Amino acid sequence: MKDRTAVLAAVCLILGFSVAVRPADAPADLVLTGGRVWTAETAGPWVEAVAIRDGRIVYVGDAAGTARLRGPKTQLIALDGRLVLPGFDDAHIHMMSGALSLDRVDLIEDQTVEAVQARIRAFAAAHPASGWILGRGWLYGSFPGGLPTKAQLDAAVPDRPAYMQCYDGHSGWANSKALALAGITKDTKDPVGGSIVRDPVTGEPTGALKESATALIESKILRPIAETRYGLLLRALSQLNAQGITSVQDAGYSPPELDADLPVLERALREGKLTVRMTLSVQMSPGRVDPSVARATALAKVHHGPLLRFGAVKGFVDGVIEAHTAAMLEPYSDDPSFGTGKPNWEPAALNAAVVAADRAGLQVYLHAIGDRGVRMALDAHEAALRANGRTDRRGRIEHIETISPADYPRFKELGVIASMQPLHANPDQNNAEVWSRNIGPERASRGFSWRSIEKAGGRLVFGSDWPVVTSDVMRGLYCAVTRKTKDGTPPGGWLPEQAVSLENALRHYTIDGAYASFEESEKGSIATGKRADLVVLSEDLFRQPPDAILKTRVLLTVMDGRVVHRAPELPAP
Ligand SMILES: [Zn+2]
Repeated sequence: MKDRTAVLAAVCLILGFSVAVRPADAPADLVLTGGRVWTAETAGPWVEAVAIRDGRIVYVGDAAGTARLRGPKTQLIALDGRLVLPGFDDAHIHMMSGALSLDRVDLIEDQTVEAVQARIRAFAAAHPASGWILGRGWLYGSFPGGLPTKAQLDAAVPDRPAYMQCYDGHSGWANSKALALAGITKDTKDPVGGSIVRDPVTGEPTGALKESATALIESKILRPIAETRYGLLLRALSQLNAQGITSVQDAGYSPPELDADLPVLERALREGKLTVRMTLSVQMSPGRVDPSVARATALAKVHHGPLLRFGAVKGFVDGVIEAHTAAMLEPYSDDPSFGTGKPNWEPAALNAAVVAADRAGLQVYLHAIGDRGVRMALDAHEAALRANGRTDRRGRIEHIETISPADYPRFKELGVIASMQPLHANPDQNNAEVWSRNIGPERASRGFSWRSIEKAGGRLVFGSDWPVVTSDVMRGLYCAVTRKTKDGTPPGGWLPEQAVSLENALRHYTIDGAYASFEESEKGSIATGKRADLVVLSEDLFRQPPDAILKTRVLLTVMDGRVVHRAPELPAP
């Protein structure tokens, strides 16, 4: 929301005076000392000790300075030279779909039809009582022609309905039983904004579904009951804490999802189990802008605390390059019959939606992947600036997989945040054989241009898009600084000139993320007065080659002054 920083600062000032129960020289709850603490502050990036009291950082400096803060009840952690960083902020995640994915078969590491089928077959055998066999994570590049078929899934699950989401969530794969259950036949019409892929000769559905057609199946899958969802959420939170994540920005709940998911999140908040700070956005789609703006505005009035907050809407400008649904300035290279893709909005309607949401004081996230989608998103943020004046709106664009060079400077000019996910640039088989092939070498050469956006003065934030890819920050960080897969390929990195420095990558995972949610004065760096969110790592990333990132473990995660994850190798105090 506009002017939120000022309001927040005023509120904190008031709270600081009214609820501080202990004087400034009272003993700390937790002291970490003898480490290499990278604060993410430009003035004084390195210190050796941190003290925490009542959930806030009360001291940052040399080890000697902590002496006056140590009392009989102070917990002391000797860091032994280990690296301390601010807690990670995943600026683009899908918390509840990530949580629900924890009891589905995960196909993300399988690169051939046989490997995918073997994993599904084993999962089905291990879950004989499941009515549906559900999974996610398949890659277009694993299937000849780029899309799977029902026969391939029937071969793994012949006896029950089975449905597998693609890793990007934009396509689905059903077996014959699932298609029959959903009543999808050759006579079923394509829904608006989606397509049932059909055999070119017989017209029969092949089993692959694109975009909104996935809902034809997904609406038939019983959603787990609230108690199950709550259990999965707690598992997700502890997984994220173990990866050093203390904040996330949740990229878009549809109104029906909110009805199911918000009570689960509110319960975690109420029971003190929300160990990751969450900023949430509400999806808005063409023709349904006003209800989404109203809902996001109402939710922002209820939830504006440090753990759970609303205040944003998200629109999908286009789809994805792999499925030829991303909006491109020129036709697709592999098969020009796909034309230039299909944006979900008419430009005028998109501009009007962003202007309206912005006028209501909401931040706007726009998913845009193709170069035309990115340009439409920039144009829409510019329309808000022209209509409503220059304010601290911090509009965002999510993904930005390829871009016209003319648009690099516009991020800085318009104050638009580039929200990108390093592992989406993972140079694997899917990237080479599907992504790059679909748009051709010229446009692929501007793939995931983190460094070019930085150089043009734009502000980047990093995230995972979990469960699209793993939420493991170390995997993302490694790709961000090397542009290599976890197996070290290709040897020099893919478009290595777009890799970012370690320090910049860490900023995009910490203080820049806090900026993206209007909270940079409260968190995102290790500074006196800020909320105490930090991590201790097993390796000193600044003193080792990039390969060390992949073996780095998070030893300790502190959120709001609470230890929310502790690895056994960190000696107990
Ligand atoms: Zn996403």
